[in-house]
Amino acid sequence: MKKYLCLLLSLLMLGLAACGNSAELPTLIDDDTPSSAPTDTSVSDIPASSEESGSEESSSAPSSSNTSSTDKEVKPISKDDGKWNMVLVNPWEPLPEGFNPQLASINVQYASYSSAKFDARAIDWLHAMCKAAAKDGVKLVVISAYRTNATQQSLFNNKVQRVKNADPSLTHDQAVEEAAKVVAKPGTSEHQLGLAVDFNSVEDSFRYTKQYKWLQEHCTDYGFILRYADDKQDKTGIIPEPWHYRYVGVEMAKKIAASGLSMEEYLENNGE
Ligand SMILES: [Zn+2]
Repeated sequence: MKKYLCLLLSLLMLGLAACGNSAELPTLIDDDTPSSAPTDTSVSDIPASSEESGSEESSSAPSSSNTSSTDKEVKPISKDDGKWNMVLVNPWEPLPEGFNPQLASINVQYASYSSAKFDARAIDWLHAMCKAAAKDGVKLVVISAYRTNATQQSLFNNKVQRVKNADPSLTHDQAVEEAAKVVAKPGTSEHQLGLAVDFNSVEDSFRYTKQYKWLQEHCTDYGFILRYADDKQDKTGIIPEPWHYRYVGVEMAKKIAASGLSMEEYLENNGE
């Protein structure tokens, strides 16, 4: 009898200990929610919602058939030919003349606005990446994708104005130069290519989120690279942007990431 009592007691203790442990488990939901649109003082290269949400807003609710069709685990077939996916756009290399990308709508479950668009040839990869992240409990939300020249112009003008407001002693040209370090001048933004997206938050603190960590580990599996790394500002012309990812195709993404080079340096080194 004493033996049984002992056993019962130790079982009870074990149960209590387990409860204690589980209560101490950290919750992982805090940085899961996408941050709201940045305030006026932030970098804010998100398209204004008024521009991006047209009449589509109410009519394009996610359809259930759409969800079920993307339930398959297979990754999209690569359609990269090593050219369209490697077009370089930066402050010194504007968009090709007459550039007119074929676009497709980003599944609304992965975007913060219903009119978000991406290059039709690469959109399956973007969806596959967001879906895989979700499966790992990481919610990736596209907050900026394809931009028209007019959208980029308006974002740029806004930035110039904010720079002027912050330092009224600057001349217009100085303000333009300063603004261009953060928001690309019209015609030189990768977003105009339709192959770049911003995820969740355009705050530098994005680098401390589990979304960023997940992207560091998996983005090349889906053909994406972190485009504006910390130590590459002199090569890319753009400040470090932990939230900005560029599609280049799986093969190129793996090669570029392994090289440790920026896209500019990689293309230069490989005689492109
Ligand atoms: Zn971006």
